[in-house]
Amino acid sequence: MTDERAGVRVHIETYGCQMNAYDTSAIHGLLAARGYGRAESPLEADVVLLNTCSVRDLAEHKILSRIGELRSLRRRGLAAADIIGVCGCMAERLGDGLVAGGRGPDLVAGVDQYDQLPDLLDAILRGESAPAPVAVGHRDDVHYVAPPEAYPTNNSHLVTIHKGCDYRCTYCIVPETRGPQREKAPLLIEAEIHGIVARGGREVTLLGQNVTAYRSGDLDFAGLLRRLETIDGLERIRFLTGHPCDMTDDLIRTIAELGKTCPWLHVPAQSGSDAVLRRMKRLYTRERYLAMIAAARRWIPDVTFSGDIIVGFPGETDADFRRTLELVEEVRYDLLFSFKYSERPGTPAAKLPDDVPPEVKKERLAELMAVQDAIWDDLAAAQTGAVWEVAVEAAARRPAGSWRARTPNNRKVLLHGGDHRPGDLVRVRVTGCEASTFEAEPIN
Ligand code: SF4
Repeated sequence: MTDERAGVRVHIETYGCQMNAYDTSAIHGLLAARGYGRAESPLEADVVLLNTCSVRDLAEHKILSRIGELRSLRRRGLAAADIIGVCGCMAERLGDGLVAGGRGPDLVAGVDQYDQLPDLLDAILRGESAPAPVAVGHRDDVHYVAPPEAYPTNNSHLVTIHKGCDYRCTYCIVPETRGPQREKAPLLIEAEIHGIVARGGREVTLLGQNVTAYRSGDLDFAGLLRRLETIDGLERIRFLTGHPCDMTDDLIRTIAELGKTCPWLHVPAQSGSDAVLRRMKRLYTRERYLAMIAAARRWIPDVTFSGDIIVGFPGETDADFRRTLELVEEVRYDLLFSFKYSERPGTPAAKLPDDVPPEVKKERLAELMAVQDAIWDDLAAAQTGAVWEVAVEAAARRPAGSWRARTPNNRKVLLHGGDHRPGDLVRVRVTGCEASTFEAEPIN
């Protein structure tokens, strides 16, 4: 280790999706390999990196004010934070623009430039890097691997299997920030999962903007699942996110046949109106989406669904919105992430008039959330007395003696009693549900 790195500790704040959580672990791994330490809090860190999200303008505003906050803490001597860096989608999108004026971060590294971070930090610590370095631009030659030891839990791990996206949903900034779809090689994915299992991991969540579009040579996503199922010691495979167009009958039947792939599908509908779906360029109709849901229900026992909905997309009428509510009532998602449309500069949708008034977006969002809450209350109440097999994740913070656990179909469970270890599979009886978490007791 060179002198400038000795004792330097890095804290990373992660914003946005689980792909960023994975990248954060990968960055920690890259920095640890160069001798950089890790700080759990920004107040004790010499370097604070913000791993950012650009999907909504609110997310970006939050990052900009966080940079200001960190700079102010540094000025007032309340935090070391000698170096403040921005990584991720916002770094990729804004690049030089982030450091213009000298009031921004001290370095910028886009989504395909994390392997440059140790060099960039070394250079800054040697005093060789002014103005702030900016590394952005898409590259095909890098796929990051989060070493299992860099990830906070030892049972369930994230594994990114590809980056970028070849769809062109008109509202979405991701094809610009993350670039075109590029696959991690199957051998690399397998090696990563073998490493996870060797360190005690039993469950992986395969990640990508559209994991279901994975294709490496002749190997499609169903084929990849079949290969990963053969890994000894691996007990559960989840994946996130699936595009409805890729959820073919063949893939649904494969999931149904495989023993380790979990019966939980995150399949964003975004809208229940064909007119809106067309303007979003989602490439499916409401009918096709619902047929996919019906096929999954028919073939995959105990399947549950989660999804995303955008309200107030340009041109969304009240009738369009009613179609969305009807779709949500029909699917009965376990979990729904719903958002007000926010225009992203440079996307095709930004050329459409953002014509749904803010107060109407707000009302629609509130109505959608109320409908979803009622669906969940109903679904949850019907589970009392059910017997499930859950995988223990960790000891719960409270109450003492309880455990966080999860069902194969992704329901969170607070398990009361028993002596368990992360990864244990336990039969439980459901006793109730509080918010989104079921309460359960172990049974013999
Ligand atoms: S599928 Fe659409 S919403 Fe999802 S990342 Fe690709 S462009 Fe964005």
